[in-house]
Amino acid sequence: MLPAGSHELKTPLTSISGFAEIMKNGLVKPEDVPEIAGDIYDEAQRLIALIEDIIRLSRLDENSLPLEMEPVDLLAMAEEVARRLKPAALQKGVSLVTRGEHLEITGARQILDEMIFNLCENAVKYNRENGKVTITVQPMENEVRLIVEDTGIGIPLAHQDRVFECFYRVDKSHSREMGGTGLGLSIVKHGAAYHGASLALESKVGQGTKITLSFKRK
Ligand code: ADP
Repeated sequence: MLPAGSHELKTPLTSISGFAEIMKNGLVKPEDVPEIAGDIYDEAQRLIALIEDIIRLSRLDENSLPLEMEPVDLLAMAEEVARRLKPAALQKGVSLVTRGEHLEITGARQILDEMIFNLCENAVKYNRENGKVTITVQPMENEVRLIVEDTGIGIPLAHQDRVFECFYRVDKSHSREMGGTGLGLSIVKHGAAYHGASLALESKVGQGTKITLSFKRK
């Protein structure tokens, strides 16, 4: 099943088709070809990102094949994610800090990686210049918590329940500009459910956002 809002898939394809059509009909001056080709490329990249996220989501569908569950060290995984996000963070002057304990849970490695990546990528993307992202892995009673905190723009209260929905964005044009698909937090939500983990969001506009994933200890 495709997620609600899958018409989002049609928009980039409609643009690609439109650009190709005007070129086919000879309506584009030769000097304008590079720009139009760039637009076609951008829209195609967007479509690829969307389809990749939809494939990720469909793997979490209850009717799809069960994923291999294995022991995963959440702090080691968070450190690896932080390393991958370093270039994007550096560009914004955002510092990325990982801290806590090497605690293991049983989970589907690739899904957990995507969940942590999406949370940390958002924490960088929706941060301010020279802001900070802190990723903490800590024990809490019989749980293992992974907390991603940022000093970014925050999420207004009225949107806080909705950001986990497919394709939901607080500021559509701003998010689109930043290359998001609107599916990142949906993957986090479905991934959490797949692992029996709970998900909590705290956020203040202009101050930052804190998202906590609580896994049962293995
Ligand atoms: P996107 O691809 O647009 O980033 P997500 O599903 O990852 O989609 O997030 C949905 C929306 O929630 C974003 O468009 C943004 O408006 C908001 N959002 C997500 N994470 C954060 C954050 N850390 N700080 C502020 N806003 C956020």
